[in-house]
Amino acid sequence: MGVFGAPRPAARCTECTRLTYPELLFFFETTGDGETERQRCALQRGHPGAHTAGIAKHETGAEGAWWLQWDSGGHHCIELAHCTAYRAAHPDYDICQLPAGHWGYHSWLLTD
Ligand SMILES: [Zn+2]
Ligand SMILES: [Zn+2]
Repeated sequence: MGVFGAPRPAARCTECTRLTYPELLFFFETTGDGETERQRCALQRGHPGAHTAGIAKHETGAEGAWWLQWDSGGHHCIELAHCTAYRAAHPDYDICQLPAGHWGYHSWLLTD
């Protein structure tokens, strides 16, 4: 959906949420990252399903990361593999900042 269309920039979802205190504590303890309380959805605008924000990487790198997903029923944290797509033409090998199997465009095609 969207991935196979012409690669023209699309808008990023504007939904935001805030991590709860226990979630902030959890991420600080597991990753040592000082995550910010406010999180914005990283998916393409109009996506189906829960809003998703990447909140912490594994120390080991590419295998997976922690994501925050939320909808009107609340939010939860889930460990998901990273999308393995990267923009080969980009000098820094721009890696997609979304979970594997995500809906819509890769992150570098999304604009604020
Ligand atoms: Zn969203
Ligand atoms: Zn992707």
